[in-house]
Amino acid sequence: MRALVLSDIHGNLDALQAVLAAAGEFDVLWNLGDIVGYGAYPNEVIETVRPLATVNVRGNHDRVCCGLTSAEGFNPIAAEAANWTQRTLSPENLEWLRAMPQGPIRATARVMCAHGSPLHEDHYIVSMRDAFMPLQRMESEITFIGHTHLQGGFSQRNEDWEEARPSYSDDDTLEAIDMEVPKGTRHLINPGSVGQPRDGDWRAAFAIYDDEVERVTFFRIPYNVKAAQEAIRQAKLPERLASRLSQGR
Ligand code: ZN
Repeated sequence: MRALVLSDIHGNLDALQAVLAAAGEFDVLWNLGDIVGYGAYPNEVIETVRPLATVNVRGNHDRVCCGLTSAEGFNPIAAEAANWTQRTLSPENLEWLRAMPQGPIRATARVMCAHGSPLHEDHYIVSMRDAFMPLQRMESEITFIGHTHLQGGFSQRNEDWEEARPSYSDDDTLEAIDMEVPKGTRHLINPGSVGQPRDGDWRAAFAIYDDEVERVTFFRIPYNVKAAQEAIRQAKLPERLASRLSQGR
């Protein structure tokens, strides 16, 4: 089974379309949350992902954009984008977001999906220090997570602890990097952000998990970032949300 693992799409339809075109054939799609917020196409991304996704986990932006929780704690730019998104979403898509379950959600016998930490949906796992407890306490060998917009993973096998950050050679082509996930090893894996990467690489990030060979492949794919920026400006969303896309920050 090939699972396409997507997180933090954030209303970026241009990035999402490039990812789906590059992903090739897949059997299931797991959406790790923050499908909306920031980008100019919240309805379109929901309507693209909804028929394909077999697992959906809510993110903090999903929760605020559909009015389940307030934007308190969001910076002013994120709050403004959440307000705009809530006004723009169709009633049906708002309803779909409101019904989205909190992670972690079981995807297979070996895999669960979460937005933040498997121990708390809003916790960020940035460092091994953050990963330490979740790796030991999570209820599956592998948990796919999002939330930080940083592609990579943390693993544990007995006394061996490792951090994996895919390091790419280029920045304007499609690149893929494999990571083995052998049984008996525990992994927290972040496919990176489709719609707003924050690791200095502007290309859309995603991952494919193949359970027959127990391997995760990380991808970066160029997309029409100018079109995404133009749509954000047309929607009169904050300029920073457009400019940051070409910086990957
Ligand atoms: Zn996010």
